[in-house]
Amino acid sequence: MVKEAVKHLKPYVPELTLEQLKKQKELDKLVRLSANENAYGTSADVAKALDKWHYRDANLYPDSNADELRAIIASHFDINADKLIFGNGLDEIIELLSRVILEPGDEVLDPAPTFSEYALHAEIEGAEIRSVGLDDSGRIDLKAMARSINAKTKMIWICNPNNPTGTFLEADAIRAFVAAVSESVTVIVDEAYIDFTGGIHDSVIQLTKEFKNLVVLRTFSKAYGLANFRVGFAVCSDPLIGYLQAARLPYNLSTFAEIAATAAFKDQSFVDSTVKKVIAERKKWEHFLIKACLPFYDSATNFIFFQVKGGDANALHDYLLENGYLLRNGLRQGWLRVTIGHPEDNQAVQKLIATFLGQ
Ligand SMILES: *Cc1c(COP(=O)(O)O)cnc(C)c1O
Repeated sequence: MVKEAVKHLKPYVPELTLEQLKKQKELDKLVRLSANENAYGTSADVAKALDKWHYRDANLYPDSNADELRAIIASHFDINADKLIFGNGLDEIIELLSRVILEPGDEVLDPAPTFSEYALHAEIEGAEIRSVGLDDSGRIDLKAMARSINAKTKMIWICNPNNPTGTFLEADAIRAFVAAVSESVTVIVDEAYIDFTGGIHDSVIQLTKEFKNLVVLRTFSKAYGLANFRVGFAVCSDPLIGYLQAARLPYNLSTFAEIAATAAFKDQSFVDSTVKKVIAERKKWEHFLIKACLPFYDSATNFIFFQVKGGDANALHDYLLENGYLLRNGLRQGWLRVTIGHPEDNQAVQKLIATFLGQ
């Protein structure tokens, strides 16, 4: 009845809504620090732009090409507007790439640990996922990845910075890697968190002008604070961009989503101020973790992955939840991922962790 690959899938367990979880745990207050959402909201310009929308247009299909959003993004990155494809969140682009590129028996490389969607969609297409461990500093090991390429390899995922470790590779390292890979292998760099590095030359979007087998992914869900509106995009060259366009759903971006993303993108000052606040709070988190003797990876993102050394990660997770804070558990035994929140929430969580550890 269904294809063989789908029979073996473990269904994705989505986050409960905050309201559902509050009710389940009988909590008055609950802060979600498990989904890497933007703790500082989104640009105030988004609401202003949406208020101008005419509800009488609800019966009309949206602009299939998202021309307005396309134009401002192309101009910002100084790329040809035809090199952009939008998705209902970056999740849809990840699915589309897998669907268009992979056939049963192909092999896909990804780092481990990394974002779980890459493996899920490879599996649905009947492809084999081969996960390559990180280096000692928790960074994606490009040398080990290059060694893992064989004749069946079709696709390589580089999440940069990497979720859940937060670690980051310089653009030069990625450039050298792509240059050495055969053109028949598509290298996909997921830059969902690139805004949080604080550097301005960290993206590899410009390299799509040089390499036809390079795809760079971005989302509005993190630094732009628009997770609810579901907008992500890919940048790549011909001929792949044409195949992706041909295979995508024609109206995957609602007008609401396009208006919100356009307003958010125009307000780069919101992103800048978010990034400043996140970096300041990230430093305080690092300081705390060092003091608490909890190992962690250097993060270039709005989250930190740390090891609950000398304690039980599951018990700490539950203790924090009872006290109104949800962290991400289950990504690696003994480790938790915390999204960097508001200063007062970060301090409260740090205090709870110290108490839990008896410090
Ligand atoms: C959050 C996230 C995404 C998905 O973003 P959406 O646009 O909300 O679908 C993609 N990649 C990584 C690494 C993420 O952490």
